[in-house]
Amino acid sequence: MALSALEIYKFLPKTNCKKCGQPTCLAFAMKLAAKQIELSQCPFLTEDAKQKLNELSEPPMRTVTFGTPEKEVKIGGDLVLFRHEKKFYNPTPLGIILDSSDEKLEEKINYIKELRIERVGEEFKIDFLAIKDSGELSQFITAVNIISHNGFPLILISDSRENISSAVRKLKGHRPIVYYRGEIDDIIDFLKESDLPFIISDTQSQSLWKKAEEIYNSGFKNVILHLESSSLNELLKFNTIQRRLAILKGKRFASFPTLILVEEEDIFRQLALCSLGICKYTDVLISSCLDKALWNALVTLRFNIYTDPQKPVTVEPKVYSIGTPSENSPVLVTTNFSLTYYTVAPEIENSKIPSYLLVVDTEGMSVLTAWAADKFNEKVISSWMERENLKGLVNHRRLIIPGYVAVLSGKLEEVTGWEIIVGPKEASGIPKFLKQIWRN
Ligand code: SF4
Repeated sequence: MALSALEIYKFLPKTNCKKCGQPTCLAFAMKLAAKQIELSQCPFLTEDAKQKLNELSEPPMRTVTFGTPEKEVKIGGDLVLFRHEKKFYNPTPLGIILDSSDEKLEEKINYIKELRIERVGEEFKIDFLAIKDSGELSQFITAVNIISHNGFPLILISDSRENISSAVRKLKGHRPIVYYRGEIDDIIDFLKESDLPFIISDTQSQSLWKKAEEIYNSGFKNVILHLESSSLNELLKFNTIQRRLAILKGKRFASFPTLILVEEEDIFRQLALCSLGICKYTDVLISSCLDKALWNALVTLRFNIYTDPQKPVTVEPKVYSIGTPSENSPVLVTTNFSLTYYTVAPEIENSKIPSYLLVVDTEGMSVLTAWAADKFNEKVISSWMERENLKGLVNHRRLIIPGYVAVLSGKLEEVTGWEIIVGPKEASGIPKFLKQIWRN
């Protein structure tokens, strides 16, 4: 939580001794609030004041990390209750739970590895795997080895302290999350020593918060909370209260990220629980479902929730080749708002006429908005035509502009010397339009 200068000032010695390089303690507090100076630069702070200031300046939700040497996964770290207040950080990592005794384990891992989902030009994969120990050490270790060799970050789930510590030893250089299913006191020494993130769970929210408070007071910071419930109502209530306690009330025990583990048979129950989790504050999600349809829906939902609402999704401004265009192919122009690009490009493809599509940087605005904001005008378009060397790309001088900005045609013709053809207003009209006007 960011502290104000006055809140910090309360904890300072107020002697104005200048040892920190600042003229007064208040000046030091102001620099500290602006993160321009380190707390350690005041040598006269009491241990108590240091601890309080450190605690108070921690973010409301902790960020817990795990992963492999090549891939770090971040969990939690949010600062606000609603994404329009700022944005949500660290999109909920999505993982699949597997059983170490599963005869088809390798086959499933290979399938998961190939499970790729594309959304507006970005490719998503399953972020991690959780492996449930069947109780047989050799099976557990084999499963852990296969998963780690395939590059997946891991959550180790077991009720055997020995099996967990053997698996951790095998995973040298990795940082798995430990989910011990026995009494936490039995493994606390190991957790302290290994400094690995771990999960604590309970079937009741009140007892889970009580455990979280004890764990927090014992000095553990890399902890994740799991409410063992498959009730939509209970999970929604728990996640919402947890986030409110952390952000509005500043309760440190509630700063731990939350986990949802869904092992329902029915895919619609899976979808309901997982969607609830993504929409309402679950920081890490594990499902037993292998069906791509579920992951398609979840990835799309996560993409929407975690997109910065103050920053439009954009594509790179440049010339895109659609099909295999030649020097005789049509050239169309549009803006770099992602949704616009992904509406226009497939329709050009549908026309079966190989084309060039010039995408102009309009800071992610759609055609009409960009035109109204003066970001999609004759000067901008002509400078991108030059920058992308359209003259060298085609041997004609005809440019197709979106129907919504027909008003630009005269000025654009003057500035560029190209013939400007006004295209359809809606992208759906592009295939018919191109077939009619382009006869090369
Ligand atoms: Fe105040 Fe500490 Fe700076 Fe001295 S060193 S002026 S006590 S903040």
